[in-house]
Amino acid sequence: TKYTPAEDRYEKMVYRRCGNSGVKLPAVSIGLWHNFGHDTPHQTKRAICQTAFDNGITHFDLANNYGPPPGSAEEAFGDILANDFAGYRDELIISSKAGYHMWDGPYGEWGSRKYLVSSCDQSLKRMGLDYVDIFYSHRFDPDTPLEETMMALDYIVRSGRALYAGISSYNSERTREAVAILQDLGTPCLIHQPSYNMLNRWVETDGLKDTLKELGVGSIAFTPLAQGMLTKKYLGGIPKDSRAAQDKSLDPNMLSDQAIDNIRALNEIAAKRGQTLAQMAIAWVLRDGGITTALIGASRPEQVTDCCGAIGNLEFTAEELAQIDEYADE
Ligand code: NDP
Repeated sequence: TKYTPAEDRYEKMVYRRCGNSGVKLPAVSIGLWHNFGHDTPHQTKRAICQTAFDNGITHFDLANNYGPPPGSAEEAFGDILANDFAGYRDELIISSKAGYHMWDGPYGEWGSRKYLVSSCDQSLKRMGLDYVDIFYSHRFDPDTPLEETMMALDYIVRSGRALYAGISSYNSERTREAVAILQDLGTPCLIHQPSYNMLNRWVETDGLKDTLKELGVGSIAFTPLAQGMLTKKYLGGIPKDSRAAQDKSLDPNMLSDQAIDNIRALNEIAAKRGQTLAQMAIAWVLRDGGITTALIGASRPEQVTDCCGAIGNLEFTAEELAQIDEYADE
């Protein structure tokens, strides 16, 4: 069936400036790490992407290794781009990354120019694209000079493979160095992608969040729902079709009785705010404007719609924040 995007999609979302750049990103973005490999029916992937776009989500985040198998998420998204999203390329911000293991041998991971440029070419081919909007160094490589990795990003942008450069999971100190190198090269760092949620606050303790603000670099917080823990889905046990049950990246040992009690208390705070817990978790990441966008994942379209509802209440009272800290600590 032919897909026609919802006409009112841009009225449903808010867009926030990404650092000091000219680009605005939706407050909620979607990533294709899970649920876009060969383990998921294509129809589900289409429905998730269509629902996202219908709700004003213009930003789709990928990486070379998303699957399983690695590369298959980009292939699936390429199919969706060629069919459902044909004619809408200019309304989309598409990102990919290289850093983790992708192919065998010494050139298939980390941060060399050899790896980044060839991996970017492979990603473009899988997605059927001439360029991505953002290309990331997925992780800092302690064995490659930072200059080389940043020069590779600069080259990827200058050669037309990407419009902007980004870095992911670099700590505050490395971020300062990377941002300075990119600045000198004339390709400013658009965005940083760190993990961040109520249960994982390293960007605050490390100083990264303040650093990004100071440097005018935008930010996209991944796993804002702590992979589903910060939703109501585990309050009645571990559902069979959940990430924790499927031997994926969420360790069921994280869901101790104590953890569940805390999540139940957070769920009640959310209800008093007129939100679902997922919505409050997203709003929390976006509070005070320090983070540009929350990067969610979804296994079904209803989750996307629920998450987008977060923008209905992005404000917190000091009392609410203090209550949240009682139950959500690292
Ligand atoms: P989330 O914390 O948003 O977790 C997503 C999961 O939470 C879903 O798969 C679903 O679990 C559950 N969920 C989502 N919405 C709801 C809802 N409304 N109600 C109930 N449950 C819900 O993020 P992810 O861990 O998926 O990561 C998001 C993206 O971040 C990735 O796709 C990727 O793009 C990026 N990322 C980047 C990394 C990096 O190194 N740069 C590392 C990890 C992620 P279920 O499947 O059980 O239904």
